[in-house]
Amino acid sequence: MRGKSENFMKKSKIKFTILIMLCLMLTLSSAAPLWARVVTVEKDQVNVRQSASTKSEIIGKVNKNMLFGWYGAEENWTQIKLDNGKLGYIRNDLLQGYDEVTVTGSTVRIRKSPSLEGEIMGQAGRGESLAALDYQQGWFKVQYGQDTGWISGDYVKLGTAVVLTSSQTAEQESPGQAHNMDSVTVSTGNPGGILSGKIITLDPGHGVRSDGGPVDPGAKGVNLGIWEKDVNLDVAFKLKAILEEMGATVWMTHTGATSLNLYGRAAVANDNGSHIFVSIHANASTSPQHSGHSVYYYAPASNPRFSGRRELTKALAQFVQDSLVNICGRANLGIIESNFVVVRETNCPSILVETAFLSNAEEEQLLAQGEFRQKLATAVAQGIKKYFGVE
Ligand SMILES: [Zn+2]
Repeated sequence: MRGKSENFMKKSKIKFTILIMLCLMLTLSSAAPLWARVVTVEKDQVNVRQSASTKSEIIGKVNKNMLFGWYGAEENWTQIKLDNGKLGYIRNDLLQGYDEVTVTGSTVRIRKSPSLEGEIMGQAGRGESLAALDYQQGWFKVQYGQDTGWISGDYVKLGTAVVLTSSQTAEQESPGQAHNMDSVTVSTGNPGGILSGKIITLDPGHGVRSDGGPVDPGAKGVNLGIWEKDVNLDVAFKLKAILEEMGATVWMTHTGATSLNLYGRAAVANDNGSHIFVSIHANASTSPQHSGHSVYYYAPASNPRFSGRRELTKALAQFVQDSLVNICGRANLGIIESNFVVVRETNCPSILVETAFLSNAEEEQLLAQGEFRQKLATAVAQGIKKYFGVE
């Protein structure tokens, strides 16, 4: 059962580490956060199921070469959105994933919405490769300069196949089977600050395994070889300092080493009654030109667990995304709904920030600089302030 620390909110300006007992189990996190945004079906008459299990209800059938936007993942299953808007799961071995398209037409228009009536925002030439972010009824959502737009599927071909799982979704076991003591830190800030009374949990993505398990370093930078876990942790510490200065009580799921799995990280926020949960990551792609900021969230309208929280969650994601683009100035990949464990299992509005791409040389260079990491922290804090309406 989960222990709880009492009275921590009464103590101001005192930083301390407490031990919190969590019902957790140990799992292995895995590789870099590399994932497909678009999938194709490999066989005919493939079952689409309600949930990620062969025992789950079949809600549709799809055929070879059909395309879908990637929506989430559970173990060896990928969640897709069917043309009727329903979400369903397909086994990974029946799918192929992609994160890029190459233009085949000589000059192809890019539009603001997935339709021939969509406003034209630019064009792309034959042979140009674009990061594919989604697919909807014949149109690919692509990164276009500092923005995103839609390109007709008739004038592009898919790039090289990429893996379907990510570290966010690679949990091999379910939660709640084993118990583990883990150290989690909390500190309360300036009592007169504008965020006084707000409880915020920060989750630096990846980290060292304190239980002697394998290190989960996250993505590796393309040139300098910096590790995602180190970048995430530094951004999280910088953000913590800003939020404390503004009076918030800030919990960290870990400060470098942890044996918490992704469910355990979410449980920290649930146990301390957080108002919001923010996971910090850096992105990676097989394509070195992919770049930019994005914020992930998960609060499907169809799931009653999220009712009353969807709009708040989206607002938090959008405020942070806008602030990242304004302050840090990289490409705007927008806010994206995805079924990631940490944003799904928390009971408060939760986001996963992909600060920039370690697989892009320019962005790796930026992520290696303390000054840029400070800007990222400032930007996320600014978005949080807007969310709480205290800006
Ligand atoms: Zn990551």
